[in-house]
Amino acid sequence: MSVPIARRLRPFGTTIFTEMSALALRTGAINLGQGFPDTDGPAELTEAAAAALREGRNQYAPLAGVPPLRAAIVAHQRRCYGLEIDPDDGVQVTFGATEAIASAMLGLLEPGDEAIALEPTYDSYGAAVAMAGGVLRPVTLRAPDFALDLDELRRVAASARRARVLLLNSPHNPTGRVLTRAELEGIAAVCVEHDLVAVTDEVYEHLVFEGAKHIPLATLPGMAQRTLTISSAGKSFSLTGWKIGWCSGPPELVAAARAAKQFLTFAGGTPLQHAVAHGLAEAERHTAPLTAQLQANRDRLASGLEAVGFAVSPTQGTYFVNADAAPLGVTDAASWCRELPQRIGLVAIPTSAFYADPADGRTLVRFAFCKRPEVIEEAVGRLTRLAG
Ligand code: PMP
Ligand code: GLN
Repeated sequence: MSVPIARRLRPFGTTIFTEMSALALRTGAINLGQGFPDTDGPAELTEAAAAALREGRNQYAPLAGVPPLRAAIVAHQRRCYGLEIDPDDGVQVTFGATEAIASAMLGLLEPGDEAIALEPTYDSYGAAVAMAGGVLRPVTLRAPDFALDLDELRRVAASARRARVLLLNSPHNPTGRVLTRAELEGIAAVCVEHDLVAVTDEVYEHLVFEGAKHIPLATLPGMAQRTLTISSAGKSFSLTGWKIGWCSGPPELVAAARAAKQFLTFAGGTPLQHAVAHGLAEAERHTAPLTAQLQANRDRLASGLEAVGFAVSPTQGTYFVNADAAPLGVTDAASWCRELPQRIGLVAIPTSAFYADPADGRTLVRFAFCKRPEVIEEAVGRLTRLAG
């Protein structure tokens, strides 16, 4: 029997991360593709998870999340950003940020509604909007600096007939950009003018390097009441497989996401929720050394790429650096990336995978630097073979 995949999911195929990690496994190449650390997060957190398992915290969590985690999220938003949220109606714990994003789209969009997002977009955005029956309207960021063209954002918003949501990601995957206050002010003005709900993906909120600052959109004047803020423990604590995420904001927006979330997975990961509550209480103590190491890795990888001839874009946060391979004579980074493991034992992601039109970013390559320094060093060594 041949059963076609539902039409709304057909365009998305298999994620580039699945494909490239499988390629790395098959070839034994260094995987600078999919963004996940190659070391565990703080032992304190894994110990807290083990303790929670042993203490019998193994049944369903309350739908909103276990109370200590909700309290820790409230305290984190207040301490880091001065945001006040309600621990009951203002927070929803989810299966990673991914489920928070999907729940928000399912809970907020009517079929045919439009969601504006900066592209290149993280790969789940298009699929989440499509699952909700919505239409993604991209606003394109372009290399080398991936600055937001506010006029283009205004044009897209003005031409959209049913724009309902602006789905924003900063620090931004895959570009590594951290949006400036001026850019955020422009975005906020568009949200207010077009009465858009802002859904902000802030999973890299703590992974921001010297000279940049993460500013949640919800902290801008008039934005708290129209912003659903999403984050996750995966990146802050190097525990991407735990998939403990959350959204927070005004009760009406949290209720919309919760309405969908309760029927996607209801509530789980109970012992891990307890452990993340423990970590989040002192998030900055855990994230400061991680961020310092990531910054050093970024610098090493970027200089290695430059030495071989890539044109490297600046990265202010996240796990990722983008490099234009055009100076090396590359015309199609997608096929080049698929051959790279055989050539030099390295996996990277073609940035075009994150653009609606793959012609944008055709020669760009995304490298993840969330790996041990010796792995970055080895990768830089392998890259030098490209010069020969
Ligand atoms: N948003 C962005 C921008 C990401 O890079 C990722 C990948 N980690 C996610 C969301 C998904 O987060 P999670 O693993 O918590 O679902
Ligand atoms: N966020 C990770 C990245 O961008 C991948 C997550 C995933 O595999 N879905 O590389």
